[in-house]
Amino acid sequence: TEQKLLKSEKLSAVGQLSASIAHEIRNPLTALKGFLQLMKASEGSIKDSYLEVMSSEMERIELITGELLLLAKPQAHQFKLENIEEIIQNVTTLLGSQALIHNVEIKVVNDKEIPPVHCIANQLKQVFINLIKNALESMQSGGEVLINMKVNDEQTLFISIADEGDGIPEEILRNIGLPFYTTKQKGTGLGMMTSLKIIEAHNGTMDITSTVGKGTVVSISLPLVSCEQVIELAECMN
Ligand code: ADP
Ligand code: MG
Repeated sequence: TEQKLLKSEKLSAVGQLSASIAHEIRNPLTALKGFLQLMKASEGSIKDSYLEVMSSEMERIELITGELLLLAKPQAHQFKLENIEEIIQNVTTLLGSQALIHNVEIKVVNDKEIPPVHCIANQLKQVFINLIKNALESMQSGGEVLINMKVNDEQTLFISIADEGDGIPEEILRNIGLPFYTTKQKGTGLGMMTSLKIIEAHNGTMDITSTVGKGTVVSISLPLVSCEQVIELAECMN
């Protein structure tokens, strides 16, 4: 029956994810083990070079597990009304030096005052870090990243992040958001998947449009709660 199918599909998705996580973490762990072995039998500068590889492999495990931790189910009490402009301001400051290295200017534009958003600030922050980093990494020869915020009918907040990067061909676009799917040498392929999960946990939507050679736009919508709903929420959380 339909229901059964849905369940087994879900199970296999979890199974697939666990398998790929195990694989991604086992690789650097195996490397670490090997280098530990080598280190026992060596000394001096060669030892230092082994240490360097080992610490970069450990960093990789840290990066992967750090991103995956964000997939933990958000709890109702973690949601608070937050100033999203401030969150984005925070992120652009954080990524300032990286933007400079890529010769990119990050611009933030919004049409009017943006009401507070009911969200988990740290998670949304991570989404914007992921998306803006991707934008920077796609812009080989610099340019502008434009972050635009708009309120629609007092109901929904729209945020778009547009870059002037390489753009994404159709066959790559199709795979974006799959765990560990990356086209980068040092990518984790977890940024888009975790971002999507976070936005969905906020009852929002995320989509991506791209033109090869021109750039990519990631669009996010987030619900804005009314005053009444805010009071209700506050009451049910006490
Ligand atoms: P990672 O950045 O570690 O590769 P992500 O999940 O963040 O993993 O992104 C997956 C892939 O999607 C990237 O490797 C890249 O090919 C593509 N991608 C995502 N955002 C952009 C963008 N703004 N411009 C071009 N390609 C992008
Ligand atoms: Mg990324």
